[in-house]
Amino acid sequence: MVLRRLSTLVATLALLFGGMLVAAQPASAAARILYYDASTAQEFVSVVNQGAAIWNARATNVKLQPVPAGRTPNIRVYADNGWPRTYTSSLGNGYWYMGREAVVDGYYPPRIAAHEFGHILGLPDRRTGLCSDLMSGSSAPVSCTNPNPNATEVAQVNAAFAGSPATTAGVYVWR
Ligand SMILES: [Zn+2]
Repeated sequence: MVLRRLSTLVATLALLFGGMLVAAQPASAAARILYYDASTAQEFVSVVNQGAAIWNARATNVKLQPVPAGRTPNIRVYADNGWPRTYTSSLGNGYWYMGREAVVDGYYPPRIAAHEFGHILGLPDRRTGLCSDLMSGSSAPVSCTNPNPNATEVAQVNAAFAGSPATTAGVYVWR
């Protein structure tokens, strides 16, 4: 009888503390929402959405969502004939171009889109030449079709959005 009560107590405590542990995990904290406007991305709207979805599937502390009507977006996306490039004003805020120059050269559009979003999310260019690095950009071969950030890049973005926002103003050009 005493044993049974003890085991019930242990089970209750485990439930209690288990619940507290789950609640204390940062993943359950609200992710910061960044609204993006792809309506000016011309023929690249779906590619821009794909770039956002790639980050949303991996980053836990920040989410990219299409801007609701009447709300000012954090991020605007345009298209032109230049090189893909991003202009950031602060972490999570800025605008980028889906430049046709890189698309015509054969660079994989979803990789470009995820890369430029990466700048908005606080990542700089790292011209390692590695296809496994999203932020290697045009230094990776044109044949590179990896649109995904690697674990380190995801961790850096999660860390950047874990605390209070830092200012990372900058201009990043695909080449
Ligand atoms: Zn870049």
